[in-house]
Amino acid sequence: MFYSKTFIPTLKEIPQEVESISQQLMLRAGLIRLLISGVYSYLPLGLRVLQRAENIIRQEMNSAGAQELLLPVLQPEELWLKSGRDKEIGQVMFRFNDRRSRRLCLGPTHEEVITELVKNNLFSYRQLPLILYQIQVKFRDEIRPRFGLVRSCEFIMKDAYSFDYDQAGLNRNYDSMLEAYQRIFKRCGLNCLVVEADPGLMGGNLSHEFMVPARSGEDIVFYCPNCKFTDSQIKESAPCPKCREALKKLNSIEVGHIFQLGTKYSKIFQANFINQQGNQNPVIMGCYGIGVSRLIPAIIEQNHDENGIIWPWGIAPFEICVLPLEVNNKKIYQAALGIYRNLEKAGFSVLFDDRDERAGVKFKDADLTGIPLQIVLGGKFLKQGKLELKIRRTGERIILAKSRLLAEIKKSIKETFDKTLSL
Ligand SMILES: [Zn+2]
Repeated sequence: MFYSKTFIPTLKEIPQEVESISQQLMLRAGLIRLLISGVYSYLPLGLRVLQRAENIIRQEMNSAGAQELLLPVLQPEELWLKSGRDKEIGQVMFRFNDRRSRRLCLGPTHEEVITELVKNNLFSYRQLPLILYQIQVKFRDEIRPRFGLVRSCEFIMKDAYSFDYDQAGLNRNYDSMLEAYQRIFKRCGLNCLVVEADPGLMGGNLSHEFMVPARSGEDIVFYCPNCKFTDSQIKESAPCPKCREALKKLNSIEVGHIFQLGTKYSKIFQANFINQQGNQNPVIMGCYGIGVSRLIPAIIEQNHDENGIIWPWGIAPFEICVLPLEVNNKKIYQAALGIYRNLEKAGFSVLFDDRDERAGVKFKDADLTGIPLQIVLGGKFLKQGKLELKIRRTGERIILAKSRLLAEIKKSIKETFDKTLSL
């Protein structure tokens, strides 16, 4: 893509009223813009990151045997009265009347809707097990939206629901989702802790949270550096219950949460199936959430320096940017354009900075937007025909001839970024 044709409004100044480094960098790098408190637009660069995260999630969900569907955002309030959760959720749920005075709400989550759907379409144990998921916008009327996309009123989630005829089936699906989650977060370049959690509003009996240690995180995780034990509900000064080592207290962002719901919802909604003996039984459920839009600030919290974002390879909006430093110099521009076209042909996603800007501006924007590899054509190219390959993560600069470029790119991907490539 030609930079001159993109919409990447980067900011030199630190925006006001920003509470975390990820929120600051998402605004400065031109990923998002605020509409009203807790509500953001995704600009093209932010959307590219979001879509890459969604694709990783889709691949891992599909390969774990889940099927994608799309449930409505608009829900009738009566489903929430029926489940009894309308009081628990209270004012967090947006509610209003339609023109026929029907009470509606904007879905903060979809257990009620999916259980109602399955109840009307599930008949036999032969249809089980089943895992359904969606990637959908959700709403919460937050008292105090904070930290940009970390706590916003409109956000994107992946929510999956499993349906089984026995507890052993639920255990299998739960384990396979837990493993899929670990792959997803690793591919997103996240260092993530898995913590046994309180099921809370969802109900049910077993639950795990996926927590990303980050300075601006609002949740606390206690972590044992010796035996890797984690817990979210331990007494402040208590040592590790397994090895007696002092625990570390980490601020964290919750990026995923999975629950064994059991029959809580299926009993209320009478979502039954006929078992092998011909009897009606409530279907056994699990639910599995990922805060997709929240992944982006979590990734940035763990991957940045004083100059900007440092994208892990698997999630970067572009993998490489090509920087001709003097676009009015024909030799530089033509060579840079040729490199850009060849890299695109080789399957990389490339941003070609064809803007007539000073070198300093181009370098600053390249660092700020965090693209993993930068290829610079400047004075050294004119005098000696040499390019510079800069690795954003390490800051390493390699001077090389054009003929060695592809080999050097492959080498740096292997050495620096393999950890976050597809498994
Ligand atoms: Zn320990």
